[in-house]
Amino acid sequence: QIQQALRALTIPLERLQMMKGHMMQDMRKGLSRQTHAQATVQMLPTYICSTPDGTEKGDFLVVELCQSQVRILLVTLFGDGNLSPQMVYKIFDMPEDIVHGEGEALFDFIAQRLSEFLGDTSSSQERIPLGFVFPFSCHQTKLDKAELLSWSKGFSCGDVEGKDVVQLLQWAIYKQELCHVDVVALMNDTVGTMMTCSTEGRPCEIALIAGEEWASNLPEWWVMGALHQCSPPSLPPDKGSNCCFMAEAYLVEITEETSGRMCINTEWGSFGDDGMLSDILTVYDESMDDESSNPGLKRFEKLVGTLYLGEIVRHVLIVLAAQKALFTGSDVAILKEKDVIKTQQVLEIINNGENTAAVKRILEGLGLESSERDCSRVQQICQAVVTRAATLYAAGLAAVLSYMCQCRDMDQLLVNVGVDGELYHTCTRFKEILENVVKLLAPECTATLLPSTDGSGRGAAMVTAVAVRLEAQRREVDELLAPLRLSRADLERVQALMRQEMELGLGQETNPTACVRMLPTYVCATPDGTEQGKFLALDLGGTNFRVLVVHVSEGGIRMASEIYVIPTGVMQGTGDQLFDHIVDCIMDFQLKQNMMEEVLPLGFTFSFPCQQVGLDKALLLTWTKGFSASGCVGQDVVQMLRDAAQRKNVGLQVVAVVNDTVGTMMSCGYDDPKCEIGLIVGTGTNACYMEEMQNVGTVEGEQGRMCINMEWGAFGDSGCLDNILTSFDTVVDKDTINPGKQRYEKLISGMYLGEIVRHILLAMVDRELLFKGNPSPKLQTKNIFQTKFLSTIELNGLALRQIRAILQDLELNASFEDSVLMREVCHVVSERAAKLCAAGLAAVVEKMRENRGLDQLSVTVGVDGTLYKLHPTFSHILQETLQDLAPKCTVTFMPSEDGSGKGAALVAAVACNISSRGKQP
Ligand code: ADP
Ligand code: MG
Repeated sequence: QIQQALRALTIPLERLQMMKGHMMQDMRKGLSRQTHAQATVQMLPTYICSTPDGTEKGDFLVVELCQSQVRILLVTLFGDGNLSPQMVYKIFDMPEDIVHGEGEALFDFIAQRLSEFLGDTSSSQERIPLGFVFPFSCHQTKLDKAELLSWSKGFSCGDVEGKDVVQLLQWAIYKQELCHVDVVALMNDTVGTMMTCSTEGRPCEIALIAGEEWASNLPEWWVMGALHQCSPPSLPPDKGSNCCFMAEAYLVEITEETSGRMCINTEWGSFGDDGMLSDILTVYDESMDDESSNPGLKRFEKLVGTLYLGEIVRHVLIVLAAQKALFTGSDVAILKEKDVIKTQQVLEIINNGENTAAVKRILEGLGLESSERDCSRVQQICQAVVTRAATLYAAGLAAVLSYMCQCRDMDQLLVNVGVDGELYHTCTRFKEILENVVKLLAPECTATLLPSTDGSGRGAAMVTAVAVRLEAQRREVDELLAPLRLSRADLERVQALMRQEMELGLGQETNPTACVRMLPTYVCATPDGTEQGKFLALDLGGTNFRVLVVHVSEGGIRMASEIYVIPTGVMQGTGDQLFDHIVDCIMDFQLKQNMMEEVLPLGFTFSFPCQQVGLDKALLLTWTKGFSASGCVGQDVVQMLRDAAQRKNVGLQVVAVVNDTVGTMMSCGYDDPKCEIGLIVGTGTNACYMEEMQNVGTVEGEQGRMCINMEWGAFGDSGCLDNILTSFDTVVDKDTINPGKQRYEKLISGMYLGEIVRHILLAMVDRELLFKGNPSPKLQTKNIFQTKFLSTIELNGLALRQIRAILQDLELNASFEDSVLMREVCHVVSERAAKLCAAGLAAVVEKMRENRGLDQLSVTVGVDGTLYKLHPTFSHILQETLQDLAPKCTVTFMPSEDGSGKGAALVAAVACNISSRGKQP
């Protein structure tokens, strides 16, 4: 019968493994917005978003409300790793009439005691932050905002439920004229444990509470001042079994926080209330539950909590005595009495190991006559009950560990766990089983368990200190980033300026001095779908040089292409050499495609700034992107290509030369006739759109439309954007080959965003906001922070592994919070880029709408460029901002596929189509 009882109390490893899985499922449920209400593991957000880093410094107050007592502490931290905090405290008994009186009286009482306490202590600090430990069920929405849901633990003050208790305390404190005391944090009692264990210089990200904490267990060193004058504290137990940990904030859907981490109070005591644990419940558990004040509830808590272990043992003994397996012949009526066996006694029995005499004494103390055999059997029972509790704790802890490991996308998790509670502190057996079983259940995690003492008091001071540190840091970060955050009014101004510059560029007189060049392209129509034929296309000036053949037919477009290398010697040789090389490549391509005999119409995408004087005539204004072939600037590049073909005796029919923006617009225009804008956001940025001929002062003719290559990257070169430029932009600009030029582009495009971020990071290191102020030599290197890193870093949460890889590459020793801050910097920079781009585009679409006298314009933008296509938020912010700035335009964005190649062919096709109909292009 004994064996049977022991077996019933043993949970096999596989069952624990399964329970761990269920616990993880319930944790996810608790965090998700949709399923939160049904989860048995509540997963309450605490709004504590960081753990101590040891730099915390200053005086902090803690007010802790316990059953019928108020504890007030003053903790002084020295910024020394929090190794030797200094504290004084005082405990005040609360009169009955306060506990059951009006809320106002309660808070006045607290504030008055606080005032007395401060009168006795000496803090010279101008402002003393205060943390409020308030262990009641609250709806917390900020670290310093929590509405009381309902009183418990014997409290029933009127007019407090539904109110923000932080506010109530703060008002009461002001009434006492303690204007320098600021309530900055409210917390439950569990989170403190985690915070105290973080003081070891290693972050502690999980806290486990195994049993109640009695205030009488206060450690000696606690009492530093002479203030310890209270009656011996005898606070009743008020913590059961619980666990909290640092979760990824974006997974905590019930809060708005999305970056960083937040401490989650699991409140796992109710796990199993949905019946998940019914198969492991024994008859003893059921009898105990029946007698409890909340039958059927808190199932997990009732298996592991110190409030219940003694009771479980009592029920086992009742059954075994009835079966005559124990205490035969003696009176066991005493066992019928509730709570007669305390958990403390169970632990004593276990801790006395082989010493049956001691066990006998304990049982005699309870009024139970026991034989030698009874003693060892009772001991076995006690061990079984505590062992079961330890394995269940282990399963719960393993669930939290594995969950953290998964969410952080790690193969291995190394973490410290602060443990509080008398089971852990006083029972070696419990501790060993807990540690060993956790290893078995979560082998991928290495958890170092650290004992914590008085988490709730000292920890509350830590929470407060961390909150103050974060607040100061936040203020400085905000100050630094403020100039990069553009208001709607800023964007409206940019939009209006762009509009002005467009007019200047279009005007015949104003064009020569305009910085937005508004170059005519001689492309007068977008595809109408009737284009047909086979065309050659060249793409020079992007990342690669390519030759393509493009078949345009009713069935769609088919293409074949080859990429050719242009050797540096050719890029920087003579113009003739360059164009000879290009013709060689064309010949090679025609050979490979078996089309040596054909002379196809050719479209030439030439993505360098050109003054175009006809569809097939473009004078190079300047080389960029590493090209410097001599004898080309000022020349017509189409003519140079034709000359080279003649030298090589190759038939070429160059029909059109286009910019890549135009190519992009045309290629998208083939699929969507409403596409009348082209946009590039890649290495650089530029746009083109269909303008009314009558508005184009630089070209003869009033009929129809012409595509205008805006060359908008130069917007701001007149100084009109100076008031939104930041010091970071100025530094980045100074370091380029064209300082003072392309100011708009330098705020938006891929070539520069990484550099802007790098300079902000340098400024943050300087202010000790990042990497604890440790300089990183590698971060000083120009262009080391690539724009593609912005994309990786901004991808939420899941990309953390990649972020670590990037940081390692940069030899940056970044904490988790550092990477959260870096993500914020990246976001601010890319957001500004997207919004500025939207402001420019808003000017374009609004002009088109007005041109056409429409109340509402519906238009499509063909877009190309790796930044636009691969950045996780750029395109979304661009579209959203554009809609806000130009509400009368419905703008669709269409990413182009191979715009520069296909587009050039389509320009040629449209031109051929139009001329074959006998019209002039
Ligand atoms: P180009 O503009 O020369 O035709 P792309 O459109 O491919 O070429 O743009 C290249 C630019 O895109 C690079 O300068 C780089 O800064 C940027 N870039 C590359 N990868 C990414 C990425 N994953 N996210 C954002 N930007 C990127
Ligand atoms: Mg390109």
